[in-house]
Amino acid sequence: MITVNEGSVTIRVPDFSKVSARAPVFYNPAMEFNRDVSVVALQVFQRLLGGEISVADTFSGSGIRAIRYLVEVEGVSEAFANDINPLAVECIKNNSVINSVSPEVSREDASIFLRSNHGRFDVIDIDPFGTPAPFMDSAAASARNNSLLAVTATDTSSLCGTYIKPCLRKYSSRPLKTEYCHETGLRILAGFTAMNLARYRKAASVLLSHSSQHYMRLYIHVRRGARRADESIRNIGFMLHCFRCLHHEHVKGFAPLKRECPHCGAEMEAAGPLWVGDIQDRKFIGEMIGEVENKELNTAGDVLKLLKGCLDEAGMPPGFYDIHEVCSKLGRSAPPLRDVMDGLEAAGFRVSRTHIRPTGIRTDAGIGEIEEVLAGL
Ligand code: SAM
Repeated sequence: MITVNEGSVTIRVPDFSKVSARAPVFYNPAMEFNRDVSVVALQVFQRLLGGEISVADTFSGSGIRAIRYLVEVEGVSEAFANDINPLAVECIKNNSVINSVSPEVSREDASIFLRSNHGRFDVIDIDPFGTPAPFMDSAAASARNNSLLAVTATDTSSLCGTYIKPCLRKYSSRPLKTEYCHETGLRILAGFTAMNLARYRKAASVLLSHSSQHYMRLYIHVRRGARRADESIRNIGFMLHCFRCLHHEHVKGFAPLKRECPHCGAEMEAAGPLWVGDIQDRKFIGEMIGEVENKELNTAGDVLKLLKGCLDEAGMPPGFYDIHEVCSKLGRSAPPLRDVMDGLEAAGFRVSRTHIRPTGIRTDAGIGEIEEVLAGL
């Protein structure tokens, strides 16, 4: 066994030479950042609700999330730690004793756990191996009004379009391997979650989303109501991309897919259905930024950097332009990103960076306007 210190807790996990789904109990130190962001997000959400909240750690592994939420998030009065692996259940119990907390521990398949605790949790955390897709129907059925659904996906090669068929199979959505494919992946996951919720007359709004390391993570506010759900899925649409000139745009609804690129006339390709609405909530992220300093996080600097990046992106249109890719298409060298951003701003366009790629910029300018600005640099 090895001892791990994360946030304000200490746990013990079996010493396994490498991080693997075959380890007796799964614990990945690289996900500490993901968990740190989660602690801050849950604290802000708890404050939004007020009072005491109940949290479900559906795929608990070592119990680290449930235990951290109990110890580090004020107002978490109840946590449930579930895992299908009997050794994990043992580990969760031992780690709870070490940290003097008492989550309710269970050993169920996640879908059964969620179904049998219908409407019980203020927060449902879904952190499975690979895809969350098979569990999202149960999560959507179980989620109560005014709750938070936090979802991790590590099947990024499917969501980003390295492989198309698995994405169609799992998410009923077509990915596209573009320079902003990680954002498309986040939007496919958000759209898929929203459609699952809509089936149960529940609406999704995305509070925070990030693509980091080998995974994607979404924080979704769930509200009940058929009318709200109808309104929510108006954010479902498609991304259209021109591989010839790199122009991209989005359309809402289930529109016809064949489209001529307005810039160069080539036929554009479509990704979706996916979420074309906002994937960052300015207010929520702003409050998270204020909360980071109240927590003891080993990755606080990285969390702040991510959150500031996401805040910058709030309200910007879907997709971004990788200026290096655009310049490479134009057969020229790339000027400093700041100069391109200043040029676009001077021409009256909105512009921001993206946390997904250091060479990407988000803007409401089209590829033609970007090319014009580049021509002057
Ligand atoms: N949340 C943990 C953390 O932050 O360290 C990591 C969870 S690990 C990625 C996925 C866990 O899901 C494993 O512990 C595995 O035993 C468990 N698991 C796999 N299939 C499951 C299922 N159908 N229902 C419940 N748990 C499952």
